[in-house]
Amino acid sequence: MTPLLETVSQGHLGMMHKLIDRGASINVVDGEGNTCLHLAVKNDMFDSEGITMDILNEYCNELDLRKEERLSGIVVARYLAGQGADFYYKNDKNNTPLDLIKNSNLREKLQTFLPPVCLRCRNRIATIKYHPCEHLLICKQCSIVPLQRCLKCRKPVTSKSEVETAKVETKEVRTVTKTVGEYEIATLN
Ligand SMILES: [Zn+2]
Ligand SMILES: [Zn+2]
Repeated sequence: MTPLLETVSQGHLGMMHKLIDRGASINVVDGEGNTCLHLAVKNDMFDSEGITMDILNEYCNELDLRKEERLSGIVVARYLAGQGADFYYKNDKNNTPLDLIKNSNLREKLQTFLPPVCLRCRNRIATIKYHPCEHLLICKQCSIVPLQRCLKCRKPVTSKSEVETAKVETKEVRTVTKTVGEYEIATLN
């Protein structure tokens, strides 16, 4: 356990925020391969420890949760994802943090705000965009094998380009929200 994992696991919001602020690594894992997200979603409520994080209200609204739930593990996990924590990381039991969320409505809603997962390996964030349709489909490693047609819209592919992960977070997330129906179908296939 690192101090960050320990504070998340025990639900200390104030200390967690301070550690992140001072550069604690966000993607470290414990002895069972759990990231801070696995630990955060298992926690019902965090103790604010006197800290007001306005951004939690925003995430709470985004997920259509009640105001009382602004300190819930899922809202804090959404915050940690915004700081670079990976919701697709599998622990030693082969579960991603998303798998640990029991409420399926909430899980699906949360997914619409996360960067899209690679449609080939389903294990890394998709960063390769295909043209002309502009769909963000697969990760860099998987893009070594060329794609003839877009996996989402079946349009013939003419070229591809890499999108920076940071941009995937801020810009593409909104795009995915709009096409969520289509994205889910693509993921199920
Ligand atoms: Zn991949
Ligand atoms: Zn396409």
